[in-house]
Amino acid sequence: MIYSKPTFKEKYHNFINGKFEAPVDGQYFDNHSPVDNKVLAQYPRSNEKDVKLALDAANDAKDSWGKTSVAERAEILHKIADAIQENLREFAEMDTADNGKSIRETINADVPLAIDHFRYFASAIRAEEGSATELNENTLSLVIREPLGVVAQIIPWNFPLLMLAWKVAGALAAGNCVILKPAEQTPASATFLAEKIADLLPPGVFNVLHGFGPEVGKPLASSPRVDKVAFTGETTTGQLIMQYASKNLNPVTMELGGKSPNVFFSSIMDHDDAFLDKCIEGAVLFAFNQGEVCTAPSRLLIQEDIYDAFIKRVIERVNAIKMGDPFDENTMMGAQASNDQQEKILSYIKIGKEEGAEVLTGGGAAKLEGDLANGFYIQPTMLKGHNKMRVFQEEIFGPVVAVCTFKDEAEAIEISNDTMYGLGAGVWTRDAHQIYQVPRAIKAGRVWVNCYHDYPAHAPFGGYKKSGFGRENHLMMLNHYRQTKNMLISYDKNKLGFF
Ligand code: NAD
Repeated sequence: MIYSKPTFKEKYHNFINGKFEAPVDGQYFDNHSPVDNKVLAQYPRSNEKDVKLALDAANDAKDSWGKTSVAERAEILHKIADAIQENLREFAEMDTADNGKSIRETINADVPLAIDHFRYFASAIRAEEGSATELNENTLSLVIREPLGVVAQIIPWNFPLLMLAWKVAGALAAGNCVILKPAEQTPASATFLAEKIADLLPPGVFNVLHGFGPEVGKPLASSPRVDKVAFTGETTTGQLIMQYASKNLNPVTMELGGKSPNVFFSSIMDHDDAFLDKCIEGAVLFAFNQGEVCTAPSRLLIQEDIYDAFIKRVIERVNAIKMGDPFDENTMMGAQASNDQQEKILSYIKIGKEEGAEVLTGGGAAKLEGDLANGFYIQPTMLKGHNKMRVFQEEIFGPVVAVCTFKDEAEAIEISNDTMYGLGAGVWTRDAHQIYQVPRAIKAGRVWVNCYHDYPAHAPFGGYKKSGFGRENHLMMLNHYRQTKNMLISYDKNKLGFF
């Protein structure tokens, strides 16, 4: 089945105070589809004047929204989930048109996961238990959580709706007002969501500002009128955003880049065809989402004694990946998100070749036909080399995996930890000791064992080292969006006796 590119209006606006507002200075930018490089629509090129309007709206709304009951907020979050569910196909088509990823990912993974994030936080806040401790027979300690107020959330383009859900669901659940800045490359689904939920939330509780990082993200993250800044994107951008927020001593959470190792031990070849088949797929998952995933398993580590047999089967599987029209449900790999992204990936493939890496498969742009010839496609590429090469150390954010071998557990752990990042990792083994000890030794916030690329709402996600800090998803996210108040209540009639 071939899905269709959705129909876009010519022009869209920001969503501020419950209404769609043209940008104050009347500037817009063209949003291109990476599928065929055609313009989809125009979006506001906002600046600090638009940021001020959103800040006014969110600050006006924060007190009453912060006082809503948990039950009220839970009901609204469920209604947001319903609104996405009712328009699942349109959301999927929109993200595919905007980002270039295959429809089978957006329709089966991104949008259903986004729905589940809203449902999870709707349920989680109702199931939370309070904390009251009797310190002695006359004194009670109450721990109370209060919303922070207004939160600025700045997101990337690789999972347009899902990254929004990761940020917004928990923030609203905790009782905050949100000002969201989607990536300029993928503004569509945030706007579509605002259209669908405009009547569900009080004005000012959820605001969407479009535009470029330095023009709208910077004044937003620098403002003393926000109470927290949450960011997902590149490590270098995260460093800038921390500087902006530090002027106001505002708390930040950072979900940044990665260079995740995917480690295959010899025991995977032992007597189990179904499991081995799963391992081969697990090695090929670097091509999931065209490799534009923060936790992409972009370094493939294979134990020496199984290398020849295993890599042969992995290459066969990579060569069977069907590239093509992202709207065709049989397409496994679609377009890279932008022209810039395609050029960056090609430059890294060139760097790898210059460093002496061996091209195992792929190694260049993919040539598609018709309108798709103008889109941005890359062959899934495997480069064999060693961990000191730039293609092993730097985030390429494309369908390029750097392959190397290791002798034993100690070397596998050493290579795994030898980058500045610490976001994700995969460990594949049938050995009971390795199943526990190797993941424990890898410095990463998420280690998948005998699986990869699973992102449940109820499992905490976040980085070690320069991959960031703070956790998203899971109940523990809520504490990044709340103040903790402790009330010490005395029932003792007697004075202390000091004065
Ligand atoms: P990016 O840092 O270029 O942009 C992310 C967002 O920041 C965009 O909305 C952009 O407009 C904004 N921005 C850019 N410069 C800014 C500035 N000076 N001030 C304020 N805002 C600014 O990242 P990207 O290219 O959109 O996304 C890819 C990156 O995101 C990769 O490094 C990837 O690993 C990372 N990522 C991390 C996670 C995670 O959970 N750790 C998830 C997805 C993506």
